Amino acid sequence: MAIMMNTPLILIVEDEPKLAGVLQEYLAQSGFRTLHLQRGDEVIPEVRRQPPDLILLDLMLPGRDGMAVCRELRQFSNIPVIMTTARVEEIDRLLGLELGADDYVCKPYSPKEVVARVRAVLRRLDSRLNDQSQKPDLQVDITSYQASLDGQPLDLTPVELRLLHTLLKQPGRVFSRDQLMDRLYTDNRLVTDRTVDAHVKNLRRKLDACMPNRELIHSVYGVGYRLDL
Ligand code: CA
Repeated sequence: MAIMMNTPLILIVEDEPKLAGVLQEYLAQSGFRTLHLQRGDEVIPEVRRQPPDLILLDLMLPGRDGMAVCRELRQFSNIPVIMTTARVEEIDRLLGLELGADDYVCKPYSPKEVVARVRAVLRRLDSRLNDQSQKPDLQVDITSYQASLDGQPLDLTPVELRLLHTLLKQPGRVFSRDQLMDRLYTDNRLVTDRTVDAHVKNLRRKLDACMPNRELIHSVYGVGYRLDL
């Protein structure tokens, strides 16, 4: 089969050869080109030599860990990164470190799920690049406590406004519920994850009323929320 130049190249950084093999197979079947590295310290030189379209980056790697790799990568590149980790508790910690990864997948995962996440991240990037003209005009003024979507004023509570302001400052970034809570409440009031979910739900309803065919706030399963423009 001829390989077309516009076939996305996925760099798999994984030190378990069996797992890497299965991923390569699934990604190839789904129409991607793949390249596999086993060591963390090989990633940056390889990316500089031949930038891939997306990197599947394991956290625990020989040579150099995934966190350090992601940090250095973000100093010169916006290539999407999906981090994989064997511990679900690790994901919250990774989010807190603000490494700039685009998504997180916990092991054990099904290769099918990984392919779906790869597609989703690439699609998101694509629509961000192609849809600039269609981008909704979302304005949030935190000092006057006013917000509008495509010129229509939004009637938001102060917490909803802060929530929207936080998400809007870094579109595409996934925030954990803990991170959102920290930014929503300045006092030490007792808040739970459910509180954040309730505010997000109300905020979504108001945005949806203004722009029904567009989902601006996305839930990232098991992790938190993200705003996409
Ligand atoms: Ca590993």
